Amino acid sequence: RFTTRASPQPLTNADELIGSVQTFIFDCDGVIWKGDKLIDGVPETLDLLRSKGKRLVFVTNNSTKSRKQYGKKFETLGLNVNEEEIFASSFAAAAYLKSINFPKDKKVYVIGEEGILKELELAGYQYLGGPEDGGKKIDLKPGFLMEHDENVGAVVVGFDRNVNYYKIQYGTLCIRENPGCLFIATNRDAVTHLTDAQEWAGGGSMVGAIRGSTQREPLVVGKPSTFMMDYLANDQLNLINDRFGILKSQICMVGDRLDTDILFGQNGGCKTLLVLSGVTTLSVLQSPNNSIQPDFYTNKISDFLSLKAT
Ligand code: PLP
Ligand code: CA
Repeated sequence: RFTTRASPQPLTNADELIGSVQTFIFDCDGVIWKGDKLIDGVPETLDLLRSKGKRLVFVTNNSTKSRKQYGKKFETLGLNVNEEEIFASSFAAAAYLKSINFPKDKKVYVIGEEGILKELELAGYQYLGGPEDGGKKIDLKPGFLMEHDENVGAVVVGFDRNVNYYKIQYGTLCIRENPGCLFIATNRDAVTHLTDAQEWAGGGSMVGAIRGSTQREPLVVGKPSTFMMDYLANDQLNLINDRFGILKSQICMVGDRLDTDILFGQNGGCKTLLVLSGVTTLSVLQSPNNSIQPDFYTNKISDFLSLKAT
């Protein structure tokens, strides 16, 4: 006998959902904003939830910015969000290293953008790579031997618009030449939506390059991995104060993607709400090929303001 998850229900009574949870975890792109544009009704919705005493947390797989840089983005969009409520996969990579007591005398090699570097720096780690290696080329003269810093104990890979062969070879050497070297991925999104015009190759493509050359599987800290959830719920990792130390069943994960957000919520034992304001369409949700079913779906989070019990 096997059971299947019930098909998702359109959200009809937002008050009931709001009343049943203590915390909302919001995915960012496709839920709060689209690129640099705020989604309609978001400020009022967040205000409503705060006025009801709900805790709000914001998670994003986009590692190009640090938590502080996201804080500025929220502010620019007119949203009142505290830096400590923001969990980006850049922050998660540094938090993971802290959680395993990664030695401060070791270095981290980064294939990724500024957000990862800023978070590593804040966490007190020494790093190499990132944007600085963006213009580097390898001079493949006969007999050329590429050197690498043997003190690199972890390679962190995230979305990198200046990925090149130098970075791939450097990261590969660090992992291949040192069996103890960690391979950490901020996320493995196949596509990103840098613009609405098309689907762009996501962070998974940079991670895939290092998987391909090292034949090693990365440890993923972004969604749908449970690392951020465990960190938030203060479950296994006793890293932060009890502010978010709550029962996972009292969390509702709200996201626009099935394979990252909804799976993340389900992996964490949370209630899940899919919004159709981002990448997933109703027909994809209802397709027989889709195996990831949220508890509820609705058009956008501002439906919370209008969907009342009848
Ligand atoms: N990674 C990159 C590089 C992105 O541009 C985006 C979305 O714009 C994402 C990941 C997904 O972000 P989120 O988890 O907020 O939907
Ligand atoms: Ca999203």
